[in-house]
Amino acid sequence: MTPEFVIKVAKRMAKNRETKIRLREIGENIYPAGFCEPGYDKGKTVILGNWNATDRYDALTHRRIRLSDGELVPRLQGILEKMGCLIEWIDACTRCDDCSRVFRTEPDSYDWQAFGWSDLDKAETKCGDCWANDDSEDGDQAHDDMHQAG
Ligand SMILES: [Zn+2]
Repeated sequence: MTPEFVIKVAKRMAKNRETKIRLREIGENIYPAGFCEPGYDKGKTVILGNWNATDRYDALTHRRIRLSDGELVPRLQGILEKMGCLIEWIDACTRCDDCSRVFRTEPDSYDWQAFGWSDLDKAETKCGDCWANDDSEDGDQAHDDMHQAG
């Protein structure tokens, strides 16, 4: 079994639009090259997504109501983890344009430091390894710009 196959099965089981959209996003964010950030298990496929149970807002009661297939995404997460994948949140990580590996964009601890960053002018996102290997002056300049901006 591959992650792609398991996600395909989950998609077939999904009934609600919100759940289908979530599963599609998960299916489009499988990174076999894994993490490049220090401290992460580097041999594992990383899959990014929103892993919360799917629900909808009910205007009548002003509450969020779990969808009938709401547990599908958390169940899928459990299966993918058992398969040895690293599950991360899509709003906390991104992919390097050069090496296709993943790094965090949001802190997960007080002493966290960004291992990669985006050059907004060139719309390029690279990890620390790839910026370091970039011998053009652009790389250094982008680094300086980002640190000034931050
Ligand atoms: Zn990279």
